[in-house]
Amino acid sequence: MWKSFLNLWLKFPCPLCHRTSEDVVCLYCQKKLGSCQLIKQNGFCAGDLPVFVWGRYEGELKRAIAALKYNNQPEIGVLLGKWLAKSWQEQNVVSRNEKLTVVPIPLHRTRLQRRGFNQASSIAKGFCHETGDVLEPNVLIREKATEAMFSLNPAQRKKNLQNSFTVSENWQKLSKFTSILLLDDIYTTGTTLKEAARVLRQQNIHILGSVVIATSSRSEI
Ligand SMILES: [Zn+2]
Repeated sequence: MWKSFLNLWLKFPCPLCHRTSEDVVCLYCQKKLGSCQLIKQNGFCAGDLPVFVWGRYEGELKRAIAALKYNNQPEIGVLLGKWLAKSWQEQNVVSRNEKLTVVPIPLHRTRLQRRGFNQASSIAKGFCHETGDVLEPNVLIREKATEAMFSLNPAQRKKNLQNSFTVSENWQKLSKFTSILLLDDIYTTGTTLKEAARVLRQQNIHILGSVVIATSSRSEI
């Protein structure tokens, strides 16, 4: 009786379809999101950095990422991060004994202030909750307020991102006894991940790879 009374209070409208839901998104939308999951990895990479991708950037997954970013729904990111981790672990992408340091790609401070949170950090929170790895959201700093990337060609993307990241001073002092896993929401050409990896490697920091929620790319290496 008490439990069913509580359940009444714990139901919310699903942010994707507005049906009542006891979870972050309703079971119906979870199923639709599940259909966006990639069955097989297509060898995505950013330079020499392997990129593990959870799903295709289309349909329900595209809507969920838009809701996460623009409708103030960080909980969707946490949920997607848990799914990303499960899939990453199931596919035994890396064998490891050490805890990894998960570094989300940061937003520039003006965009962070406007949005109130970094969607990649929300995803990383869910990811680390599942894997037990260590979330470090402040390793990278985004120095440049870069233009939106979707309208740019690969050469313009590269130029847009040049020198856009630095490594925080605290992290430079902490030694490099850990391996880093970069995490982002969307993978298109890999330019962002490549640039982030470049500045980390300049500090002799080891990067194991990267994980992202979605890609619009179908290319194989
Ligand atoms: Zn729903």
